[in-house]
Amino acid sequence: MALENLNARIKNCRKCRLWRNAKNGVPGEGPFSAKLMLVGQNPGGEEDKTGKPFVGRAGKYLNKILIRNNFNRDELFVTNVVKHASPKNRKPLTDEVEACTPYLLEQIRIIKPKIVVLMGAIAWQTPRFEDVEYFETYHPSAAMRFKKIRAKFETDFSVLKRISN
Ligand code: URA
Repeated sequence: MALENLNARIKNCRKCRLWRNAKNGVPGEGPFSAKLMLVGQNPGGEEDKTGKPFVGRAGKYLNKILIRNNFNRDELFVTNVVKHASPKNRKPLTDEVEACTPYLLEQIRIIKPKIVVLMGAIAWQTPRFEDVEYFETYHPSAAMRFKKIRAKFETDFSVLKRISN
């Protein structure tokens, strides 16, 4: 299946330097039928350890907001722009984002979600397809840290619930 093939390519990717320090490539997870795709920045330490997206602190907060808005995370496709963790959790560099973005575009092409939710400034840079709807919100880590961003982020998920049905 196209998604499995893509996952294997992501896990074995050597297109930038990040694989050298990372334990696991983190392609993302969710059903082929997902109507909503959530896109973060790149895996952190917990994600690197487990190979799964958003399982650390930001993921736990994201789960809370999803549950509060009656989303079932198992029905969503959750991924990141950059698929390998970076050394000391630094922000991904421009060339790393550029090297990895084609994987995200392929995921969007295969899954064809109704809405792609771009969380944070790195995700906002994603090139857009005309036949896909995009929704920009903040990154959950920023929402955890700053009160005003948190309020907007949490409102955004209630809006998303309304428009994604
Ligand atoms: N932050 C991200 O952007 N993605 C993850 O998977 C975890 C934390």
